[in-house]
Amino acid sequence: MSARRVKAAIKKFNKFLITSHINPEGDAVGSQVAMAFLLRKLGKEAFMLDDSPVPGSLQFIKGTEEISKEMPHDFDYQAVIILDSPDLARIGRINEYIKKDAVIINIDHHVSNINFGKFNWVEPEFSSAGEMVYDLFKAFKVKITLDEAIALYAAIMTDTGSFRYSNTSSKTHRIAAELIDIGVEPYDMHSRIYETSSIQDINLLGESLQTMKLTEDGKIAWLWVKKEMLKKTKASLEGTEGIISFPRSIGGVEIAILFRETGTEDRVKVSFRSKGKVDVNKLAAEFKGGGHPTASGCTVFGKIEEVENKVLEKAKEMLS
Ligand code: 5GP
Ligand code: MN
Repeated sequence: MSARRVKAAIKKFNKFLITSHINPEGDAVGSQVAMAFLLRKLGKEAFMLDDSPVPGSLQFIKGTEEISKEMPHDFDYQAVIILDSPDLARIGRINEYIKKDAVIINIDHHVSNINFGKFNWVEPEFSSAGEMVYDLFKAFKVKITLDEAIALYAAIMTDTGSFRYSNTSSKTHRIAAELIDIGVEPYDMHSRIYETSSIQDINLLGESLQTMKLTEDGKIAWLWVKKEMLKKTKASLEGTEGIISFPRSIGGVEIAILFRETGTEDRVKVSFRSKGKVDVNKLAAEFKGGGHPTASGCTVFGKIEEVENKVLEKAKEMLS
């Protein structure tokens, strides 16, 4: 599919439900808000419904205050737009509100996307779902205003690791330039999103770094965030977001892994990062997860030590 085909699909409907994945980050939040703004400019109704709350650091983005966790009784949508989600499991609790015969418009940039919609626009070459929504603005010839530019910039900036990762293209930069011309202030965006950590979160980073280990060949680095570390430092789970960049930053490391104890059960959220040699989307897929070739994740049930063993074994296999 293409932006033009999605445009044709959108034209057929008037009332949209918009959602994205659990624990939304910049791309999920920014692409949803920009999409809602676009639909409204086209004279359509849009309601944003997410499984989990918008992180505090993204709440400055206008429109995020509208993202609801509950479905209103009287909202009878005609189509659902799902952004930045490779499969329906990723939208979590929102599945309860998706009617069996619902028309789903799937807009995503994950290679692992399983084309679960009636309309599937999947672009693994795109930096972000935000970049795809930007293309929709262009397809509809709708002028981008500052609030929309901020949402799109947040989506693109966060998913490219501030324009550092291999998904950053010249097009990404051209879009960013256009958004800056509209009025987006790059340092203000960066500061609001990445320079609002609490001392508790930084203390947690310190604790987590103490757990870092390296394989003998120096190619895999991994660390933990355990429940008791969260308790001790009083940090938030949100505050664990940037930790994975530290093991990756070690010279010679090809795969970085972060193991996070999340809920109350024996459940571990595993994040993978690669410098490009290893496809960590495939590694995550071994554990029913997914993502991108250089950034992926999964949730594995079990004690953190068991999960660590299982995951490391697979990671070593992929390297050999
Ligand atoms: P993170 O490690 O930052 O949570 O996620 C990195 C990338 O992996 C994101 O693009 C995200 O969509 C994907 N990802 C993370 N966890 C999961 C998961 O449990 N399932 C799938 N399919 N993708 C995931
Ligand atoms: Mn994304």
